Amino acid sequence: MVTQINSMRFILFLFIVVTTFGCSNREQADLIVHNAVVYTVDSSFSIDEAFAVKEGKIIAAGKNDDILNKYEAKETVDAKGNAVYPGFIDAHAHFVGYGQSLFAVNLYDCKSFDEVIERVQKFVAAHASEKWILGRGWDQNKFPGKSFPDNEKLNVLFPDKPVLLERVDGHAYIANAKALELAGVYPNQKLTGGEIEIKNGKLTGILIDNAGDLVRAKIPAASKADYEKWLTAAQQNCFAQGLTTITDCGLNYDDVDIIDALQKEGKLDMRLYVMLSDNKANYDHYLQKGPYKTDKLFVHGFKVYADGALGSRGACLLQPYNDKRGWYGFLLSSKAHYDSVAALLAGTDFQMCTHAIGDSANREILNIYNKYLKAGNDKRWRIEHAQVINENDFDLFGKASVIPSVQPTHATSDMYWAGDRLGTERLKNSYALKKLLQQNGWLPLGTDFPVEDISPFKTFLAAVFRRDATGFPDSGFQKENALSREEAIRGMTIWAAKADFLENETGSIEAGKKADFIILDKDLMHIPENEILNTKIVATYSGGKKVYGK
Ligand SMILES: [Zn+2]
Repeated sequence: MVTQINSMRFILFLFIVVTTFGCSNREQADLIVHNAVVYTVDSSFSIDEAFAVKEGKIIAAGKNDDILNKYEAKETVDAKGNAVYPGFIDAHAHFVGYGQSLFAVNLYDCKSFDEVIERVQKFVAAHASEKWILGRGWDQNKFPGKSFPDNEKLNVLFPDKPVLLERVDGHAYIANAKALELAGVYPNQKLTGGEIEIKNGKLTGILIDNAGDLVRAKIPAASKADYEKWLTAAQQNCFAQGLTTITDCGLNYDDVDIIDALQKEGKLDMRLYVMLSDNKANYDHYLQKGPYKTDKLFVHGFKVYADGALGSRGACLLQPYNDKRGWYGFLLSSKAHYDSVAALLAGTDFQMCTHAIGDSANREILNIYNKYLKAGNDKRWRIEHAQVINENDFDLFGKASVIPSVQPTHATSDMYWAGDRLGTERLKNSYALKKLLQQNGWLPLGTDFPVEDISPFKTFLAAVFRRDATGFPDSGFQKENALSREEAIRGMTIWAAKADFLENETGSIEAGKKADFIILDKDLMHIPENEILNTKIVATYSGGKKVYGK
């Protein structure tokens, strides 16, 4: 009996020794993800099974046994064999603008201007207290006749309420008479970088590019509470699509102050890379003190506009538009202005990021960049969109290590009418993702939301298959410029991070990086094309914290 008890005690003792020593042998982590197909998106695109997270960072990735034997954690996630990718990064978007658009009249996909009017009426009925009616998303290319609407009906329906409706690309507006009156807009008014449309000597309400600013300047300033409402709604939608970092292209310093405060108060988790708008107040505020960085915010670029968009014929072309005789589009500022910004930023750590769509706008900016940048530099100055490039100008990217920042869904949205604007010859060197990728060997991808949908899956589909959500066109639009699946994934993760100087912090699942990752119910590297848009995010993690998913 005594021996039995003693031997039981001995077994118990052994058990305690083994478990205690077993525990102390394993390092403490906060989170372990295992039983996954982990696309680390490291330099060799290697695949692991598990990884451990501590204090918001990945501390190790490897085989299931290696990670489970080496670490223990309060929380262990069995990914059930699902694919895990780094969180998606959108290299070009308008996060604040998107948040704002969630609380304005949604005019996307309107099939006629009457439908636009109907949606505005519904919105006004439901938001009687709004002093200004703002909307976004109309596109006359989807209306019968495809010509710009005029404001006559808006004037009759809303004689006392200012209405300003932004075109899908953000480069044209229609304003009612009340809004034009408040802004003091009159026929034949002169301005640079914009156009005020008149017909029979009367304002039609159509305002192109800088002309829109005349009315926008009269919209009452938003409060911090407005920002919180916009940005938390925007963030929720982005996390649900697997996005963990967004590049916001063009904010003012006071927007940034509010964002910084919301992040520090724990009300906003989204990581943001910010390009400041090209205006004196922003240069005055930021150039002296230099880039601003926190755990979630990096203010490190200036966004300059060279021209407008192709849809509204504001893109600046070397030869006239194919569908508007003698019309070249225009630059939004003087060449001297772009040169002076480049001269100013060349001596700072700030990135110069210039919107250029037409081949003339791209050439102007590429030449200016090449004047200030030496071969092999690492300033990563960017051209946003880089849509229509003259055949002889592609090399100007590689020569000065200029980064083309492209949006694959622009190709599949514009493909229906881009040929009308450009003709077949120029179209060949437009939306040329593969050719642009070859310039530097890497290429950041984005969406330009809310110009396009926020979905990274649509970006992936457009980049790899060059087809839209309807499967059009059968053979893929200019398929020679498609990216491989691996290139598209890199473009949406590590290359987007690199375009934002964040590649040492995020964009891949490697030790030392922030634990920004997503679990998907399907594996983008292997599923057939028709399953891409049905892929669901199982969970999104930012800095090791679950921000979306059950
Ligand atoms: Zn944009």
